[in-house]
Amino acid sequence: MDRAAPITFDIVLVGGGHAHVHVLVNLAMRPLPGVRVTLVARDLATPYSGMLPGVIAGLYRPAQAHIDLLRLAAATGTRLIHAEANGLDRVNKRVLLAGQPPIAYDLVSIDVGIAPSLTPIAGATEHAIAVKPIGSFLKKIDDLVERCRQPDGPRRVVTIGGGAGGVELLLSLRTRLRAEARDTGIDADAFSFTLVSDGEILATHNGHVRDAFRRVFAARGMTLREHAHARAVTADAVSIGHSERLAADVVLVTTDAAAPAWFRDTGLDHDAKGFLAVGPTLQSTNDPDVFAAGDCAALVASPREKAGVYAVRAGPPLADNLHRRARGQPTDPWTPQRRHLALISTGERYAVASRGWFKAEGAFVWTVKDWIDRRWMRTYQDVDAMIARLPSQ
Ligand SMILES: Cc1cc2nc3c(=O)[nH]c(=O)nc-3n(C[C@H](O)[C@H](O)[C@H](O)COP(=O)(O)OP(=O)(O)OC[C@H]3O[C@@H](n4cnc5c(N)ncnc54)[C@H](O)[C@@H]3O)c2cc1C
Repeated sequence: MDRAAPITFDIVLVGGGHAHVHVLVNLAMRPLPGVRVTLVARDLATPYSGMLPGVIAGLYRPAQAHIDLLRLAAATGTRLIHAEANGLDRVNKRVLLAGQPPIAYDLVSIDVGIAPSLTPIAGATEHAIAVKPIGSFLKKIDDLVERCRQPDGPRRVVTIGGGAGGVELLLSLRTRLRAEARDTGIDADAFSFTLVSDGEILATHNGHVRDAFRRVFAARGMTLREHAHARAVTADAVSIGHSERLAADVVLVTTDAAAPAWFRDTGLDHDAKGFLAVGPTLQSTNDPDVFAAGDCAALVASPREKAGVYAVRAGPPLADNLHRRARGQPTDPWTPQRRHLALISTGERYAVASRGWFKAEGAFVWTVKDWIDRRWMRTYQDVDAMIARLPSQ
């Protein structure tokens, strides 16, 4: 922000997600006179999804996989409001905050991720751990690990959901729990790990990638239950189909995502699941002063799966279009790539690369993934380097 000019225009970013961290830096690089940028953040540290499995496996410290929004806001001259947004008053152009006065906006952008959705599986709300949203997930994992360290703690771990998140999560958890078992003198072989998927695992990837992970699961003595529909969860089991009972001490659910409940009262267009409908410019289809990106948005012209990689890629076009609209210029359309290179780790320093029909695997794939992830994080964690790149005011 140009601190010399009086404030005449407010851009409010709601949520410190993957797209907004880029917007903060990008807007600070080319400040507009009189334009103030505000970030409303519920959590002051935002996790980077690509490195979360590595944190769970013990390959990274939690701090390595988090962006400190307080430092980022200070470095970029952004006003930071530590609060949870719970509504939008579009008539008076104000963001409503839980327990705090509303704040005015001229343009607002929403990148708040998703809410957990456990309701399709009976009993899951009471008895299962929701993996999404990622913000609160590591705390739940720490609590789980602590319970598993106890001599009479849980041993039979079941994950429901066969996407990349579920597969990586269970493999990473196995690495972690076996290491903790060795530290605490518990028999590591007492743990069992089962993944339940109602279709094939990794359905959006090619058959070679699926086979690579089937092999990894078999080699580690883990059980894969494909084409098994989890219907209900109780305190000690998962019901599969109508007749099978799978014993489980801990159940993690990585399946569905829901839109944050407060979207319903905004009057903004949304898709069938309640995610904010945006056009190619990332503007709401019924309000050009409202932008949305990441998992909470539904790109109506080019729907994509909900993945961190698309939230990251939305950052540059979102920043450009906020900048353009603040200057009164027309916004530019953006089409996200249809396919992306996915690097899926096996819970150790080994990963599988997947894109279309391409598959490669090995320790070198993990090295590449590690390099990409660390480089991305450095952009937002190395505040001194960032300040050196910012224009002087
Ligand atoms: C275990 C796990 C592993 C994953 N691994 C991968 C992977 O390897 N690759 C990949 O592409 N994707 C992965 N994903 C998916 C990825 O995490 C999401 O797609 C990604 O986080 C979406 O980014 P986002 O910016 O939309 O939202 P988020 O990253 O969820 O960020 C939302 C931010 O908004 C804040 N917020 C939320 N509500 C409010 C509110 N009301 N007011 C203010 N602030 C709010 C939150 O605190 C958070 O900081 C993984 C997910 C999980 C759970």
